[in-house]
Amino acid sequence: MEPMNTPLLEVSNLSVDFKLPERRIAHAVRNVSFAIAPGERVALVGESGSGKSTVANAAMRIEDPGELSEESRVVYAGQVLTDMRESKLRLLRGSEISRIPQYSNNALNPVQTVGAQIIEAIRAHRKVSKDEAHDRAVSLLQDVQIPNAATKMSAYPHQFSGGMQQRVFIAMALAAEPKLLIADEPTTALDVSVQAEVLEMLDAQVTARNMALLLITHDLAIVAGRCDRVLVMYGGRLVDGFRLDAIKHLVEEGSVEEIFSGGAHPYSRDLLASLSRIDAEADNAFPSIPGSPPDPAESIIGCPYRLRGCAFATDACSEELPKLTVISDSRRAACHMADEVMEENGEQHAV
Ligand code: ADP
Ligand code: MG
Repeated sequence: MEPMNTPLLEVSNLSVDFKLPERRIAHAVRNVSFAIAPGERVALVGESGSGKSTVANAAMRIEDPGELSEESRVVYAGQVLTDMRESKLRLLRGSEISRIPQYSNNALNPVQTVGAQIIEAIRAHRKVSKDEAHDRAVSLLQDVQIPNAATKMSAYPHQFSGGMQQRVFIAMALAAEPKLLIADEPTTALDVSVQAEVLEMLDAQVTARNMALLLITHDLAIVAGRCDRVLVMYGGRLVDGFRLDAIKHLVEEGSVEEIFSGGAHPYSRDLLASLSRIDAEADNAFPSIPGSPPDPAESIIGCPYRLRGCAFATDACSEELPKLTVISDSRRAACHMADEVMEENGEQHAV
């Protein structure tokens, strides 16, 4: 494996709390560390409520980023974002790091043309003339494969389908040529057939522009063939991390289930296994593991996944929270039983 380049984004010891009523605190993200190299494509997966969006929002300090612990550090290209003033951060957002929000049908301004909204996104970061911004906007609409782009500039959002509106968002996110694109469930709300088209277009743009990608999703099926590396979150913690090329012998076999049998944590293993149970009628559903994820306001001793019926749990798991540990140069897992899990996968131990 090649050594990692200087990271583009480095998140270390990120912990985020939210205050809840009655003095309860949700520990939404706990001690999460990871890095993304320039041009690298990383997937962040986990069930709803596992803390994925909180990681992204805290990294960019957008929306309600919650309360970051003192140890939390986010560094982008050598600049410490966690210490940065809002005015400086604002310059970075959009121009260096951009986010595609989850599709929602009222997120575009309904009384402004699509073209005007893209032009605004361009001019927010680049000093260009109106004519030049217009031309760029048309070319962005072409990049996101909106047919008759020049004519569509004067259309209003309601004249666009959900998939087309999401393409407009992607165009806006690309407007300032960011080096890192954070796509938070970019297609979750779209029909499955539209989803595939939008993702394919997104892939092409990430490649053409040589951007790094953090793809946040609860849908493991879209990760295959799209990302270099997978990070798995459970209950606000990073529990597993692996490179897809590290399990090449499985990839070469072909099927998605085989590609994904690589989890070294029982949670990701169960997620991956449940993929094969997704059928046509439930095509948008999260692969279901019985039970529910831990309540972030509750304190749990030991590994939270044992409470979900982990098949590998032993006494140690109810006593001590497993730390995220390096298993090989490409694998990390927070599981006391990682060796056994991998053995069950039929994987060779790298170390
Ligand atoms: P995901 O994106 O993986 O679905 P989130 O990051 O949105 O998960 O949420 C993680 C946890 O933090 C959830 O339990 C959620 O209820 C809680 N949370 C997120 N944002 C807030 C907020 N603004 N106030 C209170 N709790 C929040
Ligand atoms: Mg989310």
